[in-house]
Amino acid sequence: MKLIDGKKIAEDIRSEIAIEVRKMLDADHKAPHLVAILVGEDEASQTYVASKEKDCHEVGFISTVYKLSATTTEETLLKTIDFINNDEEVDGLIVQLPLPKHISTNTVIQHIHPEKDVDGFHPQNTGRMMAGMPAFLPATPFGIVELLKRSGIETEGKNCVIIGRSNIVGTPMSVLLSRNANPGNCTVTICHSKTPDIKKYTQQADILIVAVGKPHFVKSDMVKQGAVVIDVGVHRVPSETTKSGFKLIGDVDFDDVARKCSFITPVPGGVGPMTRVSLLINTLKSAKKEIYP
Ligand code: NAP
Repeated sequence: MKLIDGKKIAEDIRSEIAIEVRKMLDADHKAPHLVAILVGEDEASQTYVASKEKDCHEVGFISTVYKLSATTTEETLLKTIDFINNDEEVDGLIVQLPLPKHISTNTVIQHIHPEKDVDGFHPQNTGRMMAGMPAFLPATPFGIVELLKRSGIETEGKNCVIIGRSNIVGTPMSVLLSRNANPGNCTVTICHSKTPDIKKYTQQADILIVAVGKPHFVKSDMVKQGAVVIDVGVHRVPSETTKSGFKLIGDVDFDDVARKCSFITPVPGGVGPMTRVSLLINTLKSAKKEIYP
């Protein structure tokens, strides 16, 4: 069994990005600029935005965070987005989700200019991804594709089973791994909460991607010998062995499953760091006008 070290791979990518930024600056180009909008005081969202800011600084990007109160109206948020959309100094714009209930997430996502939509959630980018055109890809599936590529995992002709069909993970993952590309060319099955006898599918998987949002959902009897297992889930659970009293676990029961795998991602240190670095890759691509020349 080989552990897929997402932390190390993400570190390597950050170093490559930092070199690219240095080259841009040397060529009198400005550094890529990412703007994040945070609405409200949700603790997890504040942590995510702070990590994104830290990542930007580490690679030499400019990072700006707009902090708006939880009572901000949808109209004010849309006007703020308009302002950033029109700012030529900004390459990427993300609005941290979830938003307060009185604001429509769909309206907000569609208001972000597709050419700055580095989260890859705008329908124009998801449509372009479906059509195999250049697009900002959603961070988690994009990160998993990079993980597979950089771990030297062959995907062509493989049977891939994905548990979960969310718009941000499962569904785009199925598109990326079934398309005629490398990584890609898998035969993909998506399982969800209405799939009967899910084991019947997962036991056939050469590559099993789990984004079900249920701690330790996947056990060894669900996994084929020699499978590649990618665990997207993240859950904070009480622990007696850590100082904080908590630890992170995934959707896969790692201790039970790992011995059957050829490759497996740990939690933490697998998919999570790759999700973070994908946002940097997209922002760099935006600054270099690689998606929308
Ligand atoms: P989500 O929107 O809650 O989707 C979960 C999916 O799992 C749904 O499609 C659901 O089916 C399916 N499901 C639920 N119960 C099931 C069951 N018993 N059997 C089969 N399928 C079942 O979750 P998500 O946003 O995709 O995230 C999934 C997990 O990944 C969460 O733990 C989240 O925290 C984590 N995550 C991690 C990262 C990272 O960077 N590491 C990024 C994103 C998400 P239905 O569609 O039928 O309801």
